[in-house]
Amino acid sequence: MQTFEPTEPTNKTDNLVLKVAVTGPFLTALDYLDCDGLVHDEAPESLIGRRVRIPFRNKSQVALVVAVAQAEYELDKTKPIEEWLDREPIVSARDLAFLQWVADYYHAPIGEVISTALPKRIRAGEPAELQGADTWRVTQLGREKLLDIPARAKAQIALAQAFLQAPQPLTVQDCKAMTSSWRKILNQWLDEQFLQALPGSCWQEPLAKAGAHHPLNQQQKDAVSAVTDKLDSGGFASYLLQGITGSGKTEVYLAMTEFALQQGKQVLILVPEIGLTPQMIGRFSSYLQTPIALLHSGMNDTQRHCAWHSVRTGEVSVLLGTRSAVFAPFRNLGLCIIDEEHDASYKQQDGVRYSARDILVRRAHQQQVPVVLGSATPSLESLFNVQQQRYRLLKLTERAGVAKPPQIRLIDIRGEKIQEGVGAKLKAAMQRHLDNGKQVLLFLNRRGFAPVLMCHDCGWQAHCPSCDANMTLHQGAHHQYLQCHHCGEQMAQPPECPGCGGKELHTMGQGTERLEESIREWFADKAVLRIDRDSTRLKGKMAELTAQAHSGEADILIGTQMLAKGHHFPKVTLVGMIDIDQGLFSCDYRATERMAQLLLQVAGRAGRAEDAGEVLVQTHHPQHPLLLKLIKDGYSGFAGAALQERNEAQLPPYRFQCLVRAEAHNPQDALDFLHSLKAGLELQWQSLQDDGQDYLEFWGPVSAPMLRRQGRFRYQLMLSSASRQKLHQLLNIMQPHIYKSPLARKVRWSLDIDPQDM
Ligand code: ADP
Ligand code: ZN
Ligand code: ZN
Repeated sequence: MQTFEPTEPTNKTDNLVLKVAVTGPFLTALDYLDCDGLVHDEAPESLIGRRVRIPFRNKSQVALVVAVAQAEYELDKTKPIEEWLDREPIVSARDLAFLQWVADYYHAPIGEVISTALPKRIRAGEPAELQGADTWRVTQLGREKLLDIPARAKAQIALAQAFLQAPQPLTVQDCKAMTSSWRKILNQWLDEQFLQALPGSCWQEPLAKAGAHHPLNQQQKDAVSAVTDKLDSGGFASYLLQGITGSGKTEVYLAMTEFALQQGKQVLILVPEIGLTPQMIGRFSSYLQTPIALLHSGMNDTQRHCAWHSVRTGEVSVLLGTRSAVFAPFRNLGLCIIDEEHDASYKQQDGVRYSARDILVRRAHQQQVPVVLGSATPSLESLFNVQQQRYRLLKLTERAGVAKPPQIRLIDIRGEKIQEGVGAKLKAAMQRHLDNGKQVLLFLNRRGFAPVLMCHDCGWQAHCPSCDANMTLHQGAHHQYLQCHHCGEQMAQPPECPGCGGKELHTMGQGTERLEESIREWFADKAVLRIDRDSTRLKGKMAELTAQAHSGEADILIGTQMLAKGHHFPKVTLVGMIDIDQGLFSCDYRATERMAQLLLQVAGRAGRAEDAGEVLVQTHHPQHPLLLKLIKDGYSGFAGAALQERNEAQLPPYRFQCLVRAEAHNPQDALDFLHSLKAGLELQWQSLQDDGQDYLEFWGPVSAPMLRRQGRFRYQLMLSSASRQKLHQLLNIMQPHIYKSPLARKVRWSLDIDPQDM
């Protein structure tokens, strides 16, 4: 492994070059000469981690200095950098070592990892310092003084008038629109206190305190003190907080966070998705009474820069963010928390395919701080780590406060009369709960109106022209249209069959839109709310709809997995799961684990207040062993059985995998690449086998579950080994060959370490 330790002092300083990491498929850093002679004047530590601008392929590009080293190549062939962009490192040596570890582990180029970790503004070479805040308002002093600007100072007058007349604080765009020299004027006025900068747009000011904290119950106290004791004694430890939904995990995170803040430390909290954050943000900020920096997909580049900057300077002590927040440059990190650690969104599915959970644990280890992984339904990997005594288990087995866990029942719908996916038993139960004035939540993980449109005369089906997939029929606000859920392609619904001209086009199966339509018909006097990706596409819509759901305005909620997580609907007493059978029989061995997690997450929405909840699960397979185990023995029972199956089938976490994917317009190109790679791997493998034991298995090359997507043919090769170390050793040997292979140039390929999806 390459490290970034300062190079040995040497006299031959005239041979020193900068090793810089550039975004792109370059496995190692590239050599450049210094333009200013800093390598002679300054210690390497003060240069490593600074950005430079370099000439690269006839363009100027921003890169990061990752080492200072003796030149390996002829100096007169090495180009000088164009300029230094930073006066001090913007990535600390410790963070750089972490990024290098990520690059090594995922077999990704260091430049790619660095650009994944840095906000866009920083990657583009903008100043690391935030240029003040984003918005400014005029002060009382300013209201007087800005009236006295001499008439010849035209730019100043324009800007002053804008400030004096604006109903709201002005943004960068507002100021830019007035004069190009706005920054200079603004800074002067800030110095003179004519203007006031408003707090960064990436953080949440503390909300008013929402009453006293809940006194923690004994299990919560035990969980908190396990971690705070560690915070006291110092050092790394990892904990799995397994607490059923509603058991008060968030309350536990809050108490731990408060403790770390009192120690003067910073805290990183990862959450899966933006849909979850508004409620979380509110709870954190009103409990902790401190500003909280946010980092999630709904933020623009300035806000991301602001979040990055505010934890780097230590201005803000708590960062609440999604996957990429794992890279944030903390000044003084003291505690890491990851909520819903089993969630699939923590795995990046393109570029550097990292698992935010896995690298968070690594980062905590590197920084010697505790890390807490929380979930009602932990991943099998994490439960396995508990078995292996790598993680300490903290359990919350009861719901906090008065709420009781819901009762889950399977409804056998074989032979039952089903209307639009809803059986008679579920319908009757809905009526009962609604008559009691309660809310009902129906869960169907398929958006759109119907997944299949078919011609009754000839059997033609609406297929996506670029994927091996059906197009889903959507109702739309004004007209029906077809959409491919894999590539996004849209087209109008054909008036007649393109195959035979037949007029009878039938839909098959149901999505949330169709379910909504029927439910509105059956329960005409009830308010129905549908929450899925389509109904929440517009900005602010998600917050609006969930607010309606919370307030109890809606009687029936219909939703996809967007509704399954994090939300707390006190009036929901019945959850109906329309169709979970897809999860029981799938070519992806993780499907049952996901089904179980989703089922319990959705079930967790029921009965979160005083009223006990009921969960009805419709299935054609009421005898399915893992499903029965889940209902009878709960998640831990299920997980134990599922882990045993994994062990018997030699699957992760008992084996280590790497999935090589390749796609191309010409299928032969993808296959040629994978076959030649496999041959190379097999050959190299033999040289690694010292003890004659067979550690490596290949599966493939085979076609991906969906062979064609967006017009490309996709194939994959799975490597599986009982030894992670050997597997990685093999990949290390092969990696440079792959980058040089002419066959690789004809395809899009990727290495996926610990893949989550087949
Ligand atoms: P989880 O994150 O495990 O789903 P939450 O932390 O959201 O659970 O807690 C569920 C509900 O119980 C919340 O409304 C929370 O305010 C409340 N709660 C948490 N801990 C306690 C406690 N010790 N006493 C009373 N209510 C609590
Ligand atoms: Zn037809
Ligand atoms: Zn498509």
